Amino acid sequence: MTEHLVVIGGDAAGMSAASQARRRRGPDELRITAFEQGDFTSYSACGIPYWVGGQVPDRDSLIARTPAEHRERGIDLRLRTRVTEIDLDRRRVRSRRTDGDSGGGTSGDGGSGGPEEWTGFDQLVIATGAEPLRPPLPGFDAPGVHGVQTLEDGAALLATLRRDVRRAVVVGGGYIGVEMAEAMIQRGLQVTVVHRSAEPMATLDPDMGRLVRVAMEGMGIEVVPGAEAKEVLLNADGRPRAVLTTVGEHPADVVVLGLGVRPRTALARAAGLALGDSGGLRTDSSMRVEGAEGIWAGGDCVEVLNLVSGRHQHIALGTHANKHGLVIGTNIGGGRATFPGVVGTAVSKVCELEIARTGLREREATAAGLSFDRAVIEATSRAGYYPGAAPMTVKMIAERGSGRMLGLQIVGREGAAKRVDIGAVALTAGMTVDQVVSLDLGYAPPFSPVWDPVQVAARKLVSGRAVSGT
Ligand SMILES: Cc1cc2nc3c(=O)[nH]c(=O)nc-3n(C[C@H](O)[C@H](O)[C@H](O)COP(=O)(O)OP(=O)(O)OC[C@H]3O[C@@H](n4cnc5c(N)ncnc54)[C@H](O)[C@@H]3O)c2cc1C
Repeated sequence: MTEHLVVIGGDAAGMSAASQARRRRGPDELRITAFEQGDFTSYSACGIPYWVGGQVPDRDSLIARTPAEHRERGIDLRLRTRVTEIDLDRRRVRSRRTDGDSGGGTSGDGGSGGPEEWTGFDQLVIATGAEPLRPPLPGFDAPGVHGVQTLEDGAALLATLRRDVRRAVVVGGGYIGVEMAEAMIQRGLQVTVVHRSAEPMATLDPDMGRLVRVAMEGMGIEVVPGAEAKEVLLNADGRPRAVLTTVGEHPADVVVLGLGVRPRTALARAAGLALGDSGGLRTDSSMRVEGAEGIWAGGDCVEVLNLVSGRHQHIALGTHANKHGLVIGTNIGGGRATFPGVVGTAVSKVCELEIARTGLREREATAAGLSFDRAVIEATSRAGYYPGAAPMTVKMIAERGSGRMLGLQIVGREGAAKRVDIGAVALTAGMTVDQVVSLDLGYAPPFSPVWDPVQVAARKLVSGRAVSGT
């Protein structure tokens, strides 16, 4: 008998799941219907800062697989169609066309749109992603104030940048904030980043975040810490003239929001599915929603298990979403796959500065009840004598006593960020700092000093010259 798979959400997690299920089971065995409320499928939101900045030539370069390509592979794709209800008892979803809606159909609420339709399912994949935080403060809905979550958002921002804009304020100092600061610099604008915490990149420890701030200031970016946004002040034409924060007024012709996201799970909550503390869906390691047979979820709408802390958390990253989709599609396709969890790896950059982290920050280690030692070292990306050797700062923390590596952060120039993958593997394997020192990593002067900077940090911890943590 032909089974019916329904997918809600047509981007990374949803379409990876649909494509993988289709690879494993043909149309005679599995009918697949995917609902996407927007206009695009399988697009890279990760690439939006580089499209806006001009390094990526056009929007279509960010689309990995078009709706037509999915349909050719036998997926019944319903664009501009929003799922408005999941009926678990009768195993069906209610949907409505979004053509008439404003705002590109990405709000995730019920919308107005066209007539409703019910579609039955045997298997359901929830891949509704996350929604960007937009404070309900005066001026934040004005034209010229932009989120950067969707391709529609990117196009709207580019349209604003074609106007006579000279000063950009980026609200939020996380990775999207700093990437958008770079994009605004690339566009030749004067850039201010306002953010709430003491240092930008709060996903790093403050001592490493300080390095990011100093480097950004060196690039001519004004960075304003401890600044909570209160209002976007508007000109007579209704467009921004400044952002008002708790520390002052920051002139702006365009405002870009990078305030983080929360899981888009209103539908799932209304259906009575299990949510975790962060509001993300809770799944088992096969990505099946806890306590719900035949209901799967992945991507930015779920919580993931942090393998280092043993706690669940919400981490919205495309790298996880794609893997979740593959696991779900494999399982629906009759195979067996699992997503064991994450170690908290993320890389980013602002202009020539590379930023990376994996594992736990000091604060997270303390919250997990772990005592630790820390080491911070300076090194170069290549042998010091080799042309192009660029400086980097590496910070590593390890559990006191056992020596188990707990976290790694790197801030530096070219060649710095991807070194964090050594740490990601070490954390996944539960390695101690002694084992990291012994790793057989590649060395030649154009690629690395004879001791890789990550191993230099590990050596410092081993030799006991490290500074103790809590
Ligand atoms: C500017 C930016 C830069 C980023 N950079 C990186 C990076 O460098 N590295 C990285 O790993 N990650 C990055 N990310 C995060 C990454 O893009 C996301 O983690 C990834 O897109 C999540 O995929 P997803 O499929 O879970 O959700 P989404 O990509 O959000 O897709 C969810 C889809 O579901 C649709 N949808 C939602 N509700 C409904 C409904 N009720 N009915 C029908 N359709 C619905 C939405 O329209 C959307 O298309 C970045 C994100 C942004 C915004």
